[in-house]
Amino acid sequence: MDTAQDTSRNTARVLVVGIDGVRLDLLPELATPHLDGIARAGFLAPVEVDSVTPTMSGPCWTTIVTGVGVAKHGVWANRFDGNRLDVFPDFTTRLAAECGRRTFAVGGWAPLFLAQQGGPLFVAPARLAYIAPREDTPEGWEEVDEKVTAEAEHLLGVDDDLHAGFVYLGAVDETAHFLGCGPEYRRSIEAADRRLGRLLTAVRQRPGHATEDWTVIVVTDHGHRDEGGHGGRSPQERTAWIAACGPGLPAGTAPSALHHADVAAHVYTALGITPDPHWTLDGTAFTA
Ligand SMILES: [Zn+2]
Repeated sequence: MDTAQDTSRNTARVLVVGIDGVRLDLLPELATPHLDGIARAGFLAPVEVDSVTPTMSGPCWTTIVTGVGVAKHGVWANRFDGNRLDVFPDFTTRLAAECGRRTFAVGGWAPLFLAQQGGPLFVAPARLAYIAPREDTPEGWEEVDEKVTAEAEHLLGVDDDLHAGFVYLGAVDETAHFLGCGPEYRRSIEAADRRLGRLLTAVRQRPGHATEDWTVIVVTDHGHRDEGGHGGRSPQERTAWIAACGPGLPAGTAPSALHHADVAAHVYTALGITPDPHWTLDGTAFTA
């Protein structure tokens, strides 16, 4: 009988919110109360995109959700052709396929969710939702993120047995590409924070919340140049960040060196799963 052990393990839940292209250096100027709350309860700390990884969405998100670097997962650009996700799957897929856990992934950037541009990155979570942009503009992407947030709220509300989810918000990055890192970009970051707040509320309002132990991780993939754009090695482009709170993450204790690959590693650890050596994760749990 290992009921007690199973019971404790099964109370662990993880939500990962990915907000694309948020500059760390601008956050202190902006109203992001929900992100600030996570930082106070746990930490918010910089991540430097390592020198072999292009500061692009495809490789960085793949590292974040697989826990391995570009040399293993093979995603070097925003096309996902030639990837090795069959060997190094994202955490929503591995948890569903190998660990029997209920997972979801939702967002609006096609190659993460669809068989386009060599994708998808999220191969087979238990639930997958893709919301297509009506038009490829900042306004179109704000609409997408609204619908993505609503879908994630729905999934958090209806799935009693949910163990882990990934929510992708893309409007901030798109706004920077169209308009640079000016007032519209800053407003978009604040809008993303309000959506984060809705997701946190949805977690708290889950029917079983009183018996669940949630870890929340918020992460960005890269920054932007002032005029908008990324892919180079300037500090503005290569500086990303991770914020997280939850069991085992005491307030104010940021890990000394954080890497994007640590996100997936922490997801497994938070769920009580010891990563199999054959997964050859490059990341380690935030507490390690
Ligand atoms: Zn990106």
